Amino acid sequence: MQITFYGGAGEVGRSCFLLEDGEKNLMLDCGIKLGEKTEYPIISDGKLEEVKNIVVSHAHLDHSGYLPHIYAKGANPKVFLTKPTRDLISVLLADYQRIQKDKENNFKQIDVNNALKSANIVEYNQNTRSDFDFTFLNAGHVLGSAMIKINNCNTIYSGDICMRKTRTLDACERNISAETLIVESTYGGKNDVLPSFKDSSAKLVTSIIKTLDSGGWVIIPSFAVGRAQEILLMLDDYMRSGVLPQTKIYVEGMINKALRIYRHNAYYANDDIKKRILMSEDDPFKSKFFHKSRSKTREDVLENPCIIVTTSGMLSGGPVLYYLERLGNDPKTKIIFVGYQATGTLGRKILNGEKKVKVGENEVEIKMQVEQIRMSGHPDYNELLQFIKGVRSLKRVFLVHGEKSDLKDSLEKKYEVMIPKLGETFEF
Ligand SMILES: [Zn+2]
Ligand SMILES: [Zn+2]
Repeated sequence: MQITFYGGAGEVGRSCFLLEDGEKNLMLDCGIKLGEKTEYPIISDGKLEEVKNIVVSHAHLDHSGYLPHIYAKGANPKVFLTKPTRDLISVLLADYQRIQKDKENNFKQIDVNNALKSANIVEYNQNTRSDFDFTFLNAGHVLGSAMIKINNCNTIYSGDICMRKTRTLDACERNISAETLIVESTYGGKNDVLPSFKDSSAKLVTSIIKTLDSGGWVIIPSFAVGRAQEILLMLDDYMRSGVLPQTKIYVEGMINKALRIYRHNAYYANDDIKKRILMSEDDPFKSKFFHKSRSKTREDVLENPCIIVTTSGMLSGGPVLYYLERLGNDPKTKIIFVGYQATGTLGRKILNGEKKVKVGENEVEIKMQVEQIRMSGHPDYNELLQFIKGVRSLKRVFLVHGEKSDLKDSLEKKYEVMIPKLGETFEF
């Protein structure tokens, strides 16, 4: 078996790996990296044409965004994914198509349709046979997210995982065995230790109350899929119970559509959500506190201090840019980062304390308060070690989807550990 890393190697973004066994091949994810400039997997068009099967671990564009490009180039591989992943991808790709600026590499709605039309829906824990024989396992990261066990080579690809039970999902499957593991390492740095959800929720609540009391707006940039649902359910909960004062929560961008897909696919959520949706009228994804701006110019949101949960998570586009322009220079307002900010993104720049940033065509002076409260959908350093060491019969580990990895030192005694470079091929 041979594996080539066309993206997601030494970076968070454009995850794309190709397994090859003679004539047979299987692509693991096909993502893009959104930033000032979109970056794509470095696979050649000729090679792309040879790709026969693609498994997509979950809907985030850093795992799925290259899919329509592949069809736009004329290739026609079989695609395997879960139903929520397919539904969420269609929303995210439509949004991505709308904002794509790269004229050379663009795709059309028809390419999205072609990709999704031919998609094969896979259920968790069921064997699927194509050229390869594989099984999807719950990854706990976003609705429908999967780890993929490839039985031919006794390999597990983790995709993105979450090891904690969250408000919407069960934690990832832990009862697993494999000889080879290709695993995300978003928080692979020794100092990447995340607080418990309980601690970060408490911190978030205190921070929100303080900002609202002082007459400022609270902006929480979030991925449309995953963090947004977790944050919204939490805010709703705290407002119902009186922990947070009842305030309007403006929900912006694709988050609303993603909420709808979460509701329609409640079967894939954890038992609490399933019960609330399927057996009662208490729909957790609808709340009297959630609002949509009434006008295109969003002036109503700026009338009174409130909470704004909006895309995009790393400030690479979406309505959050409008709010940065309008509220960025207000010292009473606060932006709270809850998710990972990749190098080179506007989010990372503001988090690093840059005071003058370019938002679209305009330069904005940042006077608002900037805070980071990590409520990540990824395992931290210690959890990653736990996860890897928990895999039975493991011999070999490829660390991907991370900018920094101190994990190698801790794992090397027990396993063969590789941190692949972009474009690198390994035999195993
Ligand atoms: Zn993800
Ligand atoms: Zn990812």
